Amino acid sequence: PLVLGIETSCDETGVGIVRGRTLLANAIASSMDEHARFGGVIPEVAARAHLEAMTPTIERALADAEVSLADLDAIAVTCGPGLAGALMVGVAAAKALAVSLDVPLYAVNHLVGHVGADLLQGDGLRGAVGEVGELELPTIALLVSGGHTSLLLVRDLVSDVELLGETIDDAAGEAFDKVARLLGLPYPGGPHIDRVAADGNPAAIRFPRGLSLPKDLAKHRYDFSFSGLKTSVARWVEKRVAAGEEVPVADVAASFREAVADVLLTKAIAACRDHGVPRLLLGGGVVANARVRELAQQRADAAGVALRVPPLSLCTDNGAMIASLGAQLVAAGHAPSTLDFGADSSLPVQEIQVR
Ligand code: ATP
Ligand code: MG
Ligand code: FE
Repeated sequence: PLVLGIETSCDETGVGIVRGRTLLANAIASSMDEHARFGGVIPEVAARAHLEAMTPTIERALADAEVSLADLDAIAVTCGPGLAGALMVGVAAAKALAVSLDVPLYAVNHLVGHVGADLLQGDGLRGAVGEVGELELPTIALLVSGGHTSLLLVRDLVSDVELLGETIDDAAGEAFDKVARLLGLPYPGGPHIDRVAADGNPAAIRFPRGLSLPKDLAKHRYDFSFSGLKTSVARWVEKRVAAGEEVPVADVAASFREAVADVLLTKAIAACRDHGVPRLLLGGGVVANARVRELAQQRADAAGVALRVPPLSLCTDNGAMIASLGAQLVAAGHAPSTLDFGADSSLPVQEIQVR
């Protein structure tokens, strides 16, 4: 089926078009720049930007895919989780399209969409790690971005996704952004920490790995916590400043990055082992991180786990992954969503589609 997917859960207005598993277009507009001076995504600003970007982004996707609206078999849209006001813009646009074109509409889960990204094949997918296309199941999926840090067990993309764990406070990307800020680096902080860390010693400072002590593991084996890490970095930096010493920014960045990568991969590989699942899929903007990618490959190889990482354009929020999940729902014969669904900012991951 030819499916157009709309994604507006955060600051990216994403419109993707797929034919089954084949990626035809992945148009994205981001309001990131508008949030930079606030040091984080401002929901109201994001929603307004989606409204302005929606029609041009749809037009761009159609042009890139060389199809017209009349060709579409279905529309898919992210209905949660995410920023309520931002989600609503995408949901409204998708409903309007589906009604006017008289095609079925699929309201889907953003997190499961991230996994759906990994099914895509076609041109423009260079940069992927592992096979492209056929996704072997079950798989463990680690999704890490500015808004989420989740560990999933995916047995079936359209019918069986289990949440193993998630962050109990900050998301990993959020931690990168906050630590960057306290090191005086610009927003979004991830790429800047990555750049600075390349010249630092990752073993210079031992920052805490959240929820990794035996007492924490009992209850939070697959959960993450990054607020303690952020505080620990802040205290460490404050002490240097108070003592009138220079802050070794590269070492702090490298040690912080190491702590995040270590805890992410330790828990993800533990999930693979515990569940006897020799496959790990990564998704989300933090996957851009050089150390996260490197350590993922090392740990996966050591554990006999096959690692898959979609190209970065499909790891960050995008419409193609939503179209991909929509196409799978169509192919599996799932009934479309009725038009009375709304945006659900805290949609649980088990709810793959909202009817
Ligand atoms: P959502 O959480 O809904 O997916 P988002 O916009 O927060 O939305 P992404 O756009 O996927 O998520 O990712 C942005 C996040 O990824 C930011 O927090 C950014 O700092 C982080 N990030 C980007 N590049 C890197 C990097 N090289 N290292 C670490 N973090 C990075
Ligand atoms: Mg983003
Ligand atoms: Fe996301």
